[in-house]
Formats: sequence, structure tokens, C-alpha cells
Amino acid sequence: MVVNVNLCYGCMACNIACHDEYVGNDWLPYSASQAPAIHSFYPEFNYVPGQSWMTLDNVERGAYPYAKRSWVHELCHQCSNPPCVAAANNPGTDTYILDNGIVIINPTTTQGQSQIAAACPYGRIYMNSISNTPQKCTFCAHLLAAGKSQPKCVDACPTTAFTFGDLDDKTSAVYSMVNSGEAVPLHPEYGTQPRVYYIGLPTMFIAGQVVHSKAQSDTNGVTNEVIAGATVTLTFNSVVQGSQTTDWLGQFEFDGLGPFYGAGGLYSISVSASGETTATFTGGITTSTYIGTLALSP
Ligand code: SF4
Ligand code: SF4
Ligand code: SF4
Repeated sequence: MVVNVNLCYGCMACNIACHDEYVGNDWLPYSASQAPAIHSFYPEFNYVPGQSWMTLDNVERGAYPYAKRSWVHELCHQCSNPPCVAAANNPGTDTYILDNGIVIINPTTTQGQSQIAAACPYGRIYMNSISNTPQKCTFCAHLLAAGKSQPKCVDACPTTAFTFGDLDDKTSAVYSMVNSGEAVPLHPEYGTQPRVYYIGLPTMFIAGQVVHSKAQSDTNGVTNEVIAGATVTLTFNSVVQGSQTTDWLGQFEFDGLGPFYGAGGLYSISVSASGETTATFTGGITTSTYIGTLALSP
């Protein structure tokens, strides 16, 4: 599965579809009913599940007046090297991997085996408060076994943020996304070889605005306070990272700095525009930052 974070606007339809499929339904041998719970804030809703096999992490970057929000989905990554499988009392029976790569926790033999849940570095296994068994996303294995082409959550997404397919099929869209490097795994440093990949994971950005030191009039007599088309160059630890020109608001933005959530370090930004002085910003930046205005003079 590939999740395109850029296409998600947080409607939660995928999350609700998962609850709809699993609460009150046993899909043996792959899963037993997900535990329902009453939301503490909305007790009038008889059923709002307190356990989600897919969650949305609300990632906010930057701050007023320049902030961005992304929704990052987390579900079982169906790892090829899954520590949850090894942690069971009887790997191969209690936990196992299907031929299609889906990792299964046996719902009938794992009661009380909380060590299975503790073994997942992604924190994607829940202990069912009613049955006391570890549970997680099954990639809707019962639907695939019945001939469906994709899981319930994928069906439910109105923006096609998910692409589901066979990573070994060289003709599939997911194969292209992963092997082109467009889609990347979350936390590959865990070493579990996950099979869920992401496009558009939020990383660190540095943004700012280029302005005249005092209002300038152009050849049409229009007063401009910002400088569009200025050249902005970003350097990280003395290595040039890229260059761009400011937009019609005089703004620039370097996004995608480093891995997930970004890489801090000493950044320098130099700005120049035709007929103007140059300006430079240098500072240690560790999180997405709007550096404010850089003023140039004629
Ligand atoms: S994400 Fe966690 S629960 Fe899923 S297969 Fe990997 S280790 Fe197991
Ligand atoms: S693939 Fe199925 S089990 Fe997994 S989150 Fe989606 S709907 Fe739930
Ligand atoms: S259904 Fe699609 S758009 Fe809505 S939260 Fe899920 S992935 Fe995002």
C-alpha cells in the first residue's frame, strides 16, 4: 500500500470504514471483532470506537503567520521482518505471514499475549479490552481472500489517497511508486522492512518573504512593498541545497529538508534581486520555521 499524504484532508472516512467493517464482526481465521468503546466526550453517541487499527496523526509545521498541516496515517505496516511475529508464544501458529505478505495475529490462540503488542515498534497493535487479545489491521485479508481487489478503507477514501496493489508486480502502480523512490517507508531505521509506503511525508521547511527596505514605485507608478522574482539560495552546513525565485507575494519556501520531520543544522539563506542590495540570514534551525522578512535596498 502507498499512502499519499498530499491527497489526504483528514475526513476520517477511512477510519470509520475500518470500524464499520470490524466492530461486531468476526472474520475468522484472520480477525475477531474490534472492541467498541464509548467516547468520554460524547457519551450520547452509543458507539464511538476507542480503538483504531488506522489512526491519523495530525502533523502541524511552522507557526503563525506561516503554518502547514498534514495528516499522516498509521496502520500495521505488514512488515517482512516483523518483531510481533517473533514475540508470540508459538510463532507460526499464533502469528504468521500469509503468502501475500499480510501479517496475521491468530485471534483464537493469542489471548493474554500482550508481549505481541509490545513488540511492534510502530505501536500498531492494540489489546482488545473485551477479549484481551492483541489486534491490528489485517489489510482486510478476509476481503482479499473473498476476491475483493482492495481493503475497505481504500474503497472509502474520496480522494484516492491510498493506492493498493502487489509490490512484486512490476506492472502495478505501487511497484512504480516504490521503485522510483517517490514513495518511502516510515521509520526504515526500525529494520522491519515495512510494506506500507508514503508519498509526501511532512519534513522540515524554511520560508520567508523578501521586501523592499522602504516602499518602491515601479514603472507604472504602483507601490510595491514586496519583491517578486528575487533569487533565494539555501545553504545547509555550507553546502548549497537549492535556489528559487520569490513568488508574487515575495515569498519563498524550501520544503522537504531532511527525512521525516526534517534535519536540524546551520542554515544560511542569501537573497538578491536586480538593482538591489543583497541580504543574508544565518541560523541554527531545528524545526519548520518562517524566518520573517529579508529587506533589500536599491
Ligand atoms: S507494523 Fe508492527 S504489528 Fe505490523 S507487522 Fe510490523 S511489527 Fe507487526
Ligand atoms: S486495511 Fe482494512 S483493517 Fe486495515 S485499516 Fe484499512 S479497513 Fe482497517
Ligand atoms: S478517507 Fe482519504 S482523505 Fe479522508 S482521512 Fe482517509 S485518507 Fe484522508
